[in-house]
Amino acid sequence: MNAPVRRHASVCPHDCPSVCALDVEVLADGRIGRVHGAKEQRYTAGVVCAKVARYAERIHHPDRLTQPLRRVGPKGSGQFAPIGWDEAMDRLAEAFLNAERRHGSESVWPYFYAGTMGLVMRDGIERLTHAKRYSRFFETICVGISWPGYLAGTGKLLGADPREIASSDCVVIWGTNAVSTQVNLMTHAIRARKERGAKIVAIDIYETETLRQADLALVVRPGSDGALACAVMHVLFRDGRADWDYLRAHTDAPEALLDHLATRTPAWAAAITGLSVAKIEEFAALVGATPRTFFRLGYGFSRQRNGASNLHAALCIPAVTGAWKHEGGGAMHSNSGIFQLDRSLIEGLDKRDPSIRQLDQSKIGAVLTGDANALKGGPPVMATLIQNTNPMAIAPNQTLVRQGFAREDLFTCVHEQFMTSTARYADIVLPATMFLEHDDIYTGGGHQYLQFGGKAIEPPEGCRSNHEVICDLARRVGAEHRGFAMSPREIIDETLRASKRGTLAELEANRWLDCQPSFRQSHYLDGFAHADGKFHFRANWAQSPYGNDGPRGDFDALPDLPDHWAVNEATDAAHPFKLATSPARNFLNSSFSNTATSRAREERPSVLINAADAERVGVKSGDLVTLGNVRGETRLHAKISAFPPPGTLISEGVWPNEDFVDGKGINTLTSDASVAPFGGAAFHDIHVWLRPR
Ligand code: SF4
Repeated sequence: MNAPVRRHASVCPHDCPSVCALDVEVLADGRIGRVHGAKEQRYTAGVVCAKVARYAERIHHPDRLTQPLRRVGPKGSGQFAPIGWDEAMDRLAEAFLNAERRHGSESVWPYFYAGTMGLVMRDGIERLTHAKRYSRFFETICVGISWPGYLAGTGKLLGADPREIASSDCVVIWGTNAVSTQVNLMTHAIRARKERGAKIVAIDIYETETLRQADLALVVRPGSDGALACAVMHVLFRDGRADWDYLRAHTDAPEALLDHLATRTPAWAAAITGLSVAKIEEFAALVGATPRTFFRLGYGFSRQRNGASNLHAALCIPAVTGAWKHEGGGAMHSNSGIFQLDRSLIEGLDKRDPSIRQLDQSKIGAVLTGDANALKGGPPVMATLIQNTNPMAIAPNQTLVRQGFAREDLFTCVHEQFMTSTARYADIVLPATMFLEHDDIYTGGGHQYLQFGGKAIEPPEGCRSNHEVICDLARRVGAEHRGFAMSPREIIDETLRASKRGTLAELEANRWLDCQPSFRQSHYLDGFAHADGKFHFRANWAQSPYGNDGPRGDFDALPDLPDHWAVNEATDAAHPFKLATSPARNFLNSSFSNTATSRAREERPSVLINAADAERVGVKSGDLVTLGNVRGETRLHAKISAFPPPGTLISEGVWPNEDFVDGKGINTLTSDASVAPFGGAAFHDIHVWLRPR
């Protein structure tokens, strides 16, 4: 019998704020069994999502790539022939050297993202970029909109300890479908409800499973969260629920805010959000009467053209009530600012040259098709290595992305675990390891733990880790950095020591390190992280979270005080619907779209349509429909549902392009236009038309 012979301590590597601590069953045959959440880690608290619990299905999948491949058919055809590692790496190195000789080093653009969140495996590619002066990568897809919104208020990516939810009397889950995407958050909120009668408020643009489990569920129109926040604050001031002692001591412009909000009434917000006045009043009354209200602000509602402004507006509410003063009160969006790791060795920051251009991740289509603005006036991109991401499915404006990857003169190498939509366009495909097959460290996004996930099992013969590939390539293209001669464990140990976070041996023995600052620091009781020590209602959008090395943004038109900023893609006669590309429960971005159980549960690419809209357009559940706008069209199946309100369409999950009737994925419809203040793609801010078939 293939019983577990040991339990291996690990960490979930996927792009999810929960970054769960895992106990992984390792079987006698060297395979893994069931994956459990670590009980002793207080945020994970023994709970993981179902898709990771059944990870054996993914890591031992018969379709895993295990052999380097060379393209033998047209780009995108998926026709490949096996080759050896040496030949594959030779071809990759030669393509990079050729591009550099002919067009300069900036014609090479290493491209990566969050398929693994392990720092060594995800970010080691940056060391190669900097050492070789290749075009730098400017990250905009995930956090580019929301982080500036949070930083505008607090000055730091730090929030109240999420474990304090145990002491909350009200938990506001805003713009994140926690049941599907942050199962631990829901666990803590439900425990607070059970143990102390806490109320759960959930806010989203359709009735998600999280809203169905909430005590107060608010379905707002996409991009209208700022209006809701303003009306709530209007009521708080009107009804004497603003904490003026707190406001005077800890915030920058409370009187200006009070004046500004005079016209932001519930009736004003009702017209914008689609909520009733009564619901807005109910929410405001609850928050006003509940000092220990914890605002867990998600990423979802920031994926709008006005997303940074919306996030800042929601963040202003606990500053008005003074909820920050209380255990179980305040706000949290991301804890990414607390770890303070010295990333020099991992990313080769000592070799970084700020004069080398940074190309915007979201604009990969424009970059690869030679748009002069996207290329910052520099040479065309002629060669790329892609790790941990699948831009042919997840990047916006897919029509351009597809044209770019189809270029005959572009050399593309994709280092991947499965034959993704992007890998199908590669000239060379390299097989990659998964997290249980290599060593790495992980920082929490939705919590405060720094964790080590060590190698548990041998990879399939033929797979190599990102670190191995980067170091090998560095040698072949003449990139110099001492990190290329170090093992992941050596890099981790030196990084921890340089960051004053102990040693690898200590972290491995303890499994995790709790990096949460003190209660007073986490609640900013000794001052917010702006120079004046105040929470800022008046946002200084020009203050870049990227420092002087980052791109400057388009921030002139952003409202300084919290408001509804009406810049989103509006519906009109030709495009009567708003579409959001929300997460699916059984996928994580485009990951897990290969595993049979996840696919079976998600069924097929589909769009949720309100019954009234469906009747008006003449569509029934199961019908093929076409969604379109100026950026393109895609066909998928209709699901008639009570969950989205009239006028809002929801397509959950990023399916491979090959699963769509015409091979065109959902991001055919999304825009790559840069969102203020510093760029990013508004994935949930899409106007479309809908027609049968
Ligand atoms: S995907 Fe998220 S919830 Fe699931 S195990 Fe990983 S970190 Fe935890």
